[in-house]
Amino acid sequence: MGSVLDTMECPRCKGEATTDFYYKTGEEYVFCPSCGYRRECTYLRDENGNLVTKDGTDNYEFKNLFWTEKEVQPLACYGIKFKESIATQMGCLETTEKIEEFRAEVESRKDELELAYISSYDTESETTTLEKLIDLTTPS
Ligand SMILES: [Zn+2]
Repeated sequence: MGSVLDTMECPRCKGEATTDFYYKTGEEYVFCPSCGYRRECTYLRDENGNLVTKDGTDNYEFKNLFWTEKEVQPLACYGIKFKESIATQMGCLETTEKIEEFRAEVESRKDELELAYISSYDTESETTTLEKLIDLTTPS
């Protein structure tokens, strides 16, 4: 399915968020790599990734589907890049426990990593804090 990648101003931290818009269905995914803000406007799918229909049949007309909008405003987000990988994986850290788990994971696998960071957003001071745990991408 075709999608259009674009960027927009993050509604939370005003950073640059990426948007992935599926023009055939109107579904949209937004992710901000600075604060972890995420918004998903999609048709409801079951755990296998199949569209859920209102009448339970295989009629996938838009009016027979459930439209869902989900917004996630996590405490922080992370980026991690393994040495043999070309892509940086990014995701959300919703709770302080998740942040601690991520730190432990990075610590235990640090020989395999090229880059690992935690970026958190403070709603009171409205500032983003980038904490680099490992960074071998910029020679010092
Ligand atoms: Zn943001």
